[in-house]
Amino acid sequence: MNIHEYQAKELLKSYGVRIQEGIVASTPQAAVEAARQLSAETGTKWFVVKAQIHAGGRGKGGGVKLAKNLDQVLDLSTQILGMQLVTPQTGPEGKKVHKVLIAQDVYYPGESQPKEYYMSILLDRGTSKPVIIASTEGGMDIEEVAHNNPGAIIREYIDPRVGLQQYQARKVAFQLGLEGEAFKEMVKFIFALYKAYNNSDASMFEINPVLKTSDNKILAVDAKVNLDDNALYRQKALAEMRDTNEESPLEVEASESGLNYVKLDGNVACMVNGAGLAMATMDIIKLSGGSPANFLDVGGGANAQTVEAGFRILLKDPNVKAILVNIFGGIVRCDRVANGIVEAYKKIGNIQVPIIVRLQGTNAEEGAKVIAESGLQVIPAIVLKDAAARVTEVLAKVK
Ligand code: GDP
Ligand code: MN
Repeated sequence: MNIHEYQAKELLKSYGVRIQEGIVASTPQAAVEAARQLSAETGTKWFVVKAQIHAGGRGKGGGVKLAKNLDQVLDLSTQILGMQLVTPQTGPEGKKVHKVLIAQDVYYPGESQPKEYYMSILLDRGTSKPVIIASTEGGMDIEEVAHNNPGAIIREYIDPRVGLQQYQARKVAFQLGLEGEAFKEMVKFIFALYKAYNNSDASMFEINPVLKTSDNKILAVDAKVNLDDNALYRQKALAEMRDTNEESPLEVEASESGLNYVKLDGNVACMVNGAGLAMATMDIIKLSGGSPANFLDVGGGANAQTVEAGFRILLKDPNVKAILVNIFGGIVRCDRVANGIVEAYKKIGNIQVPIIVRLQGTNAEEGAKVIAESGLQVIPAIVLKDAAARVTEVLAKVK
């Protein structure tokens, strides 16, 4: 699960990470009020109006703008609120902006130039360790830096049994070229950031840019947080930060039915039990000349309700030209699944999309018989190769 920048900053602040202060607003009037309040609290005269969507690169898309007075706050938030913001990370359709963060300007001039850094903490699956990634090339696309200038990327692996050590935070701050007050600030910043990451069951915290202000303070100007869905049951406060506006409506519906669904942009939908089999099924769809419209794992207990919920979700995707059901009956029996499919099919009614059903394992023959005798437009297959051939045939007809 992802959260918004303003929520991530609140979270960071609660762990003692210094942040660019701000107040969130949903209307232009509230944005002006927020700016007024922020000015009273921080003394800032300039403001940054920042679109709150679950995607980065907002600056490039015109979703982050500097306002030099309250009139400009009003104009810019009127412009940004409600816009369909397109960034390099949203895809061409963009994302609708429902909220803006009115933030204090932290790039004010002073004895030295403000300087941007990059820092993230994420779980490195290769080493099973959290890793701090840092760079002096802040504010830029980190993938680009990694590609063009790999030497500019600092990595510090943390042993989860002992946690972040003092020497490690100092090493990172040193490699970033910091000294004096800014060095000490950075060490504190890294410790607080690690604590926030660790205690939130996060898979990623990305702060880009981390800013050294002209008076040598280190603060988070942006914050992108990725939480581990499997830990949300013990992170109630974080779970409440979920914004379903930002998620695909079909994925929201699936999660409500306990289905593991990821929408993709292909034309052949699939319903499978088990993630590994789902991956193999997506490969088979590719081999048969189609492309997967989704990933859907109905789990171990495929019954009439889950099958029905699954079909309803798959059928809502207008790109879907065929549905391939691929169930391996291990614990679940194929005849039970077949009955579930027939029941769901009748209940939904008027299904125009061809459905190919491959049942294998316990009671596969009985399952195939149930499908054959149902009189429904369901194409049975027992061997996966046959199922793939049926997909190819169906696609040839609709093309
Ligand atoms: P992103 O584009 O989605 O990554 O959004 P960021 O929060 O990183 O903001 C984009 C850019 O806006 C930053 O890299 C800064 O260059 C600029 N920016 C952010 N805060 C301020 C600020 O307080 N003052 C000024 N002048 N620029 C800012
Ligand atoms: Mn950023």
